[in-house]
Amino acid sequence: MHDPAAARAGNFIRHEEIPSPPRRPNQSLQPPLRSAPAYDPKSMRAENFICHEEILASLEYAERFKNDKAALRAVLNKAEDRKGIDHREAVLLLITPDKEIEAELFALARRIKQEFYGNRIVMFAPLYLSNHCLNSCVYCPYHRTNADMPRIKLGPQDIERETRALQDMGHKRLALEAGEHPKLNPIEYILEAVDIIYSVKHKNGAIRRVNVNIAATTVENYRKLRDAKIGTYILFQETYNKAGYVKLHPAGPKHDYARQTEAMDRAMEGGIDDVGLGVLFGLQDHRYELAALLMHAEHLEAAHGVGPHTVSVPRIRAADGIDPASFTSGVKDDEFARLVACIRVAAPYVGMIVSTRESKECRERVLELGVSQISGGSRTSVGGYCEPEPETELSAQFQVNDNRSLDEVVAWLMRLGHIPSFCTACYREGRTGDRFMALCKSGQILNCCHPNALMTLKEYLMDYAGPESRALGDPMIAAELTKIPSEKIRTLVAGRLKDIENGSRDFRV
Ligand code: SF4
Repeated sequence: MHDPAAARAGNFIRHEEIPSPPRRPNQSLQPPLRSAPAYDPKSMRAENFICHEEILASLEYAERFKNDKAALRAVLNKAEDRKGIDHREAVLLLITPDKEIEAELFALARRIKQEFYGNRIVMFAPLYLSNHCLNSCVYCPYHRTNADMPRIKLGPQDIERETRALQDMGHKRLALEAGEHPKLNPIEYILEAVDIIYSVKHKNGAIRRVNVNIAATTVENYRKLRDAKIGTYILFQETYNKAGYVKLHPAGPKHDYARQTEAMDRAMEGGIDDVGLGVLFGLQDHRYELAALLMHAEHLEAAHGVGPHTVSVPRIRAADGIDPASFTSGVKDDEFARLVACIRVAAPYVGMIVSTRESKECRERVLELGVSQISGGSRTSVGGYCEPEPETELSAQFQVNDNRSLDEVVAWLMRLGHIPSFCTACYREGRTGDRFMALCKSGQILNCCHPNALMTLKEYLMDYAGPESRALGDPMIAAELTKIPSEKIRTLVAGRLKDIENGSRDFRV
């Protein structure tokens, strides 16, 4: 989604280029910290682009300047340019105890969110295909030694049924999830599932974009996923701290840190230019993770000219046999809000995703600060949309903290002034990777994404909404229509909205 030219110009600016914070009279003459020698964002080796020493140096830098108002203001001023800040600067904003700076950061994050994404929130749902897994991730109940976990794999008819159930809710965009098991969940199984999902047309429903969140794999398999027309390839790093990573993944193919960390490079080599990063916050120190996550984004830009399309910010949750209290790096709500704001100002263009792991209250807070995509009505067990599992079953991958239906979430968003969007237009028009970035940079969001959000919301209101959503939605669409700057597009969209009322579907600009 990033413009290579912008990347070259320093969308993520290397910290060697950052002027040192101004020196006060009583400050030592200690030279500014330099990058660790092994750190190289262009390197294709995990240990060089996620360089442990560079992260430690960044944390040291942030500790040193966290109370330095001039240094903090300099970073905020740079972020005002909407070209991002680098990992060191972001960590400085993350850890400062200065409440005045925090208030300025939050205000800036809100403005950037509004300018780049407007008041649209993109909706999606996860679809769990199989919980067979060879790995042993200690935070996930699907790990291979959990003998209590009922193992389920959806067959073709189950996938069709789940897809219809998701369409009946109103979803147009899915994220496929499956454990890693080359025999039971081979790439052919995932490809078949993608095919089935795209082929199901039920009433006025259709899944128009299938994102895929499966284990790290080979360039050849990524090429197959690209050919199957997936949307975003999503892979959470879980933790970037190698020592922690190895302990948290004691066995199975995922134990290999480099294989996981270099997966996005293989995906790009396989032709997927739309990738989603993520950290499972709570496993390790969140300051370390923020620096590394942004270094990963810097690496993708430096090495491929395209940064991540999305960043997910899940926090660890309870599940069968998993007690979040047993992890000592839990991220408190206030720290979580700061994390979201830091990512928003560091990477203004990136889509940011929060799932139903988070409560309604928490989601409400972070929507303001930078989140642009949320799930709604999610089931995190295999087959859970057709057959919600009994409370006692415990086969979900994690405990959901927002149990509302999609329609309740849609109505809630509109009450808060957000437009729930079911748009999938960019992906279907081939506006991925650096082409999406160009759209953002051209300032055409209000003439493009905004109208598409209104038309897809209208479809939702016509086909799936309950009375409250319908009562809120039509006035919102009428008011938002007037905000489309181009008269030509405004008139076109007004006509399309009438067409949707008369039964036509699937328009986009
Ligand atoms: S996180 Fe993924 S790889 Fe790890 S045990 Fe769970 S399903 Fe398997």
